[in-house]
Amino acid sequence: MRTVSVINQKGGVGKTTTTVNLGAAMARAGCRTCLIDLDPQAHLSLHLGIRAGEDTLTAYDLLLDPSVDAASALVQVEPNLTVLPAETDLAALESDLASQSDRHVRLRQVFEQFTDFDVIMLDCPPSLGVLTLNALAASHEVLVPLQAHFLALQGVGKLLETVGMVGRGVNPSLQVGAIALCMHESHTTLAREVVDDLRSFLENARDKDVPWSNCRLLDPPIRRNVKLAEAPSFGQSIFAYDAACNGAVDYQRLAMSVLAMWALRPAEDTTVAAESDATDVTGTDN
Ligand code: ADP
Ligand code: MG
Repeated sequence: MRTVSVINQKGGVGKTTTTVNLGAAMARAGCRTCLIDLDPQAHLSLHLGIRAGEDTLTAYDLLLDPSVDAASALVQVEPNLTVLPAETDLAALESDLASQSDRHVRLRQVFEQFTDFDVIMLDCPPSLGVLTLNALAASHEVLVPLQAHFLALQGVGKLLETVGMVGRGVNPSLQVGAIALCMHESHTTLAREVVDDLRSFLENARDKDVPWSNCRLLDPPIRRNVKLAEAPSFGQSIFAYDAACNGAVDYQRLAMSVLAMWALRPAEDTTVAAESDATDVTGTDN
């Protein structure tokens, strides 16, 4: 089982979109995948058409009491794709757990019940509070989605440093495993420059004792594609919404490269049948 926190302290960089669609692609490739919504905004749950009601169990209930039966909170949205949903009450957890000494390892306790998954991906809120710390404590590695034009190199370094250092405080073996470029506009000079800088920054860390010494820049970048922004309104992953669009092609390819990196062989190759080429940046809204 591989447990991955999808983290960036900035909002709007593609965390939820990446968790949903990378997870959906892995599920379609045969991996038993569970997505955890750890953001009180509940965007991941809404993206997959889940509206937690008054009586439904959510991430909040499990974190408050890890002995609650996790299976009764899980929602299966597609074959191989299961979600632990959230609702806005998750925001109260910070104060609810404030006096509990085990407040950062609650999720790790919950995961003891999660024995039937190959991959767990956690969609984290854009902050480093109790929810993110629970995610980091329960994860093998971190995946950082970012926009190349958004952060100059210094920003990326600072981000990896903070996530890595905070994470290692609760989980000494935590690795910053990978960076995924989201809403990518590779035809801009700025994006190209930032990507080049990022590559050399990561290369320079290879022989250093830092949490990102093995960090990979994932390929392909996810191009900006309006279909990815439309799919949440329909409560669907990009593959259910439009399996032939560039967004679906990019996330499918990204999933294959992540699975290869982990050496988790998919049960079957369900490569999206589409004509578009991931390196073609002209038809960004296909
Ligand atoms: P975060 O979870 O980091 O706040 P989101 O995944 O919610 O970020 O993405 C922010 C916004 O950008 C959302 O409206 C989403 O639909 C949109 N978006 C994300 N990735 C893409 C993309 N590759 N192309 C176009 N829009 C995107
Ligand atoms: Mg989000």
